[in-house]
Amino acid sequence: MHDPIRIVSKLSLGVLCAVLAFMGDSTFVQEATAQESLAQKRPDAWYPRTEKVGPDEMFVVALGTGMPTPITRAQKSSAWYVELGNGDIFLFDIGSGSVENLFALRPEFHRVDKVFASHLHTDHVGDAAALWVGGWLSGRYTPLHIYGPSGAKPELGTATFVEGLRKTYAWDVTGRAGILPDAGGQLVAHEFDFKQDNGVVYEKNGARITSFPAVHVLDGPVSYRLEWNGLSFVFGGDSAPNKWFIERAKDADFVIHECFYTPKGLEEALGFPPRQATFVSSYIHTPPSGFGKIMSEVKPRLAIAYHTIRQPELDQQILDEIRTTYDGPLAIANDLMAWTITKDTIVQREVVSAERVQAPPTTPGYKDAKRSGEASYSDFTNNGKWKGYTPPPLPER
Ligand SMILES: [Zn+2]
Ligand SMILES: [Zn+2]
Repeated sequence: MHDPIRIVSKLSLGVLCAVLAFMGDSTFVQEATAQESLAQKRPDAWYPRTEKVGPDEMFVVALGTGMPTPITRAQKSSAWYVELGNGDIFLFDIGSGSVENLFALRPEFHRVDKVFASHLHTDHVGDAAALWVGGWLSGRYTPLHIYGPSGAKPELGTATFVEGLRKTYAWDVTGRAGILPDAGGQLVAHEFDFKQDNGVVYEKNGARITSFPAVHVLDGPVSYRLEWNGLSFVFGGDSAPNKWFIERAKDADFVIHECFYTPKGLEEALGFPPRQATFVSSYIHTPPSGFGKIMSEVKPRLAIAYHTIRQPELDQQILDEIRTTYDGPLAIANDLMAWTITKDTIVQREVVSAERVQAPPTTPGYKDAKRSGEASYSDFTNNGKWKGYTPPPLPER
């Protein structure tokens, strides 16, 4: 975290008791009634492949907290990694650039096979193809499943988006036949009605995900609530303040909602003229005061704000505005912030990862998965192979 003190600068004394210990890159958030400090039990930071998610824990990482513009080295577009103690991994959104941060975690890619898209803006799904092929190359030997809403017309829905990806990357995927596991190349769309309010879109291994509508640009965007083992995670994609979120996010443990620039901040940051800035900030997105109002109704154990480019001068403006309407536990998310959530505590840390990482090791399941077919050249290209080079003999399958 760059500047955790800012985040609590306006907290009331009571809340300060609840949000403890902002030290170095480790932040510890605790409810007022629980006195025990888990900070002593965990390392200050989260290091890839050094600890397992406990059987009763939910582990969340912000893979992308930014915007479509600018996408920065420090902040990719929206994406959230959720791993449960039962071994399941979920991605909520997979915005442009976010796969870079996913690789930074060095996850077991054969388990990273589900994405829940809030809507089809590039800053929320722009890295779907990078995950599809990159994950397949890195250990996924089963299909990648993309869950997402319908739109006002079939051509505006998730199924059409996924079909479009298949067509767009036909050359890429066809060329990997016989080299990579067959099933890992499959991309499966699970489109559901964007209008459903509290409809179940996923239920397996004790985890249940429901969706509810959002208000953003066109018909279609949604938010999600994940329930598992008595813990609840709510993810709001882009939206103006909407009634469904207030109702469905209520009393959840960990609640993410966009918190856009103020109109003034947007004028300054992106050079928008005043009308455009106000419309974008406050009619199709949620400005900080609106975010605070929502969280005051929802009352989560921890409220997470995202969807701005973090800059100190804007941070203060955003925080000041949030604190006009909300004085509860809050984090303004940065990329690679991580949270371990249990029934008693929420521990906030920073992922520490190398700039250059290798893909994580693959598994026996990947090595043994069926590979069939073979990409081939025409005589024209075959005749272009240089006679002066002899490759080594191919090992048996
Ligand atoms: Zn967005
Ligand atoms: Zn959007």
